[in-house]
Amino acid sequence: MKVGIPKEIKTHEYRVGLTPGTVREYVAAGHSVLVETNAGAGIGATDDAYRKAGATVAASAREVFASSEMVVKVKEPQPSEWTQLRENQILFTYLHLAPDPEQAKGLIKSGCTAIAYETVTDAQGGLPLLAPMSEVAGRLAIEAAGAALKRSAGGRGLLIGGVPGVQPARIVVIGGGVVGTHAARMAVGLGAEVTILDRSIPRLRELDEVFNGRVRTRFSTIESLEEEVFAADVVIGAVLVPGASAPKLVSRSMLSSMRKGSVILDVAIDQGGCFETSRATTHADPTYEVDGVIHYCVANMPGAVPLTSSQALNNATLPFGLALANKGFAAVLENPHLRAGLNVYRGRLTYKAVAESLGLPF
Ligand code: NAD
Repeated sequence: MKVGIPKEIKTHEYRVGLTPGTVREYVAAGHSVLVETNAGAGIGATDDAYRKAGATVAASAREVFASSEMVVKVKEPQPSEWTQLRENQILFTYLHLAPDPEQAKGLIKSGCTAIAYETVTDAQGGLPLLAPMSEVAGRLAIEAAGAALKRSAGGRGLLIGGVPGVQPARIVVIGGGVVGTHAARMAVGLGAEVTILDRSIPRLRELDEVFNGRVRTRFSTIESLEEEVFAADVVIGAVLVPGASAPKLVSRSMLSSMRKGSVILDVAIDQGGCFETSRATTHADPTYEVDGVIHYCVANMPGAVPLTSSQALNNATLPFGLALANKGFAAVLENPHLRAGLNVYRGRLTYKAVAESLGLPF
């Protein structure tokens, strides 16, 4: 199959759909890859690196869209991109269509076959193409917390791990899923005192086993949250209720009981956030202060580390992308997990929740 990789054009998006390493896999499987010039610049991958991997370099996105049977991207297509898609062309990327009626209409009009990373499933009922970005965000959260705790950043002036004889930071993680587990792992590694709250008892049991006593686990209630937030130096919001906005778990009055210079990181901000006082921020200006508490609410945390993020994403997308390249649309019919990723097909929405939230026919 002819596989195309346009350069990402969304503002501040530096990741790339296929890295040179992944291109080698496609080429080894007998496919041809056309990459737009400079597509890998954000991760330091030159056109030459793509050529060495077996790709052909195209001068423009137009050429890539026109010549490819499957387009592999990272972010949802922008208006200038969806107008170039056409019937029977496969688009494999993050789409997040539910809040984006314009894009949905654009994809419907194009007649393309759009498979959304975020709804592809695995045998365990997970979302394997979302998980790597949650891993990145969870790990980054602790780096961001460390930076925000510094006095120069308005924080308490606390070192996360302390030093011998001095207490480490107390870090509370609300939601012990992928983000929460990776945040906790980093925090434990640095020597912090870590508590994870979750509503799922089976999940708390698993965490108790995984961390072998190195983290405290607590069932999340108003009372346990209040107690933990009150005593915390850092609170990380990492909850997810699939298909819904994040529940507001920490009110402004709870926040006001926190010590001045403590830090909250609302990783769930992309779902609206779980702190009453959260509003989305950017990498250019990641923090603000409310009632003396530093807030970090960057909605696209993995964008800060496009090299790691592109590699992690490529690892996860490779088997699905190769199946699509090998078999075309038949791969969607054969594989229920890829089928779960199908959002648009021949001018119709094919994902019920997306159609319902957009009020469009399914
Ligand atoms: P996940 O499904 O793996 O984990 C969510 C956890 O929250 C689950 O264990 C669930 O039991 C728990 N939970 C649900 N309701 C709760 C409640 N009321 N109290 C306590 N725990 C509760 O999800 P994830 O992949 O870890 O993602 C977490 C959030 O991070 C999501 O909103 C996701 O969109 C977001 N995210 C943001 C970024 C970013 O850049 N800001 C990047 C990746 C993921």
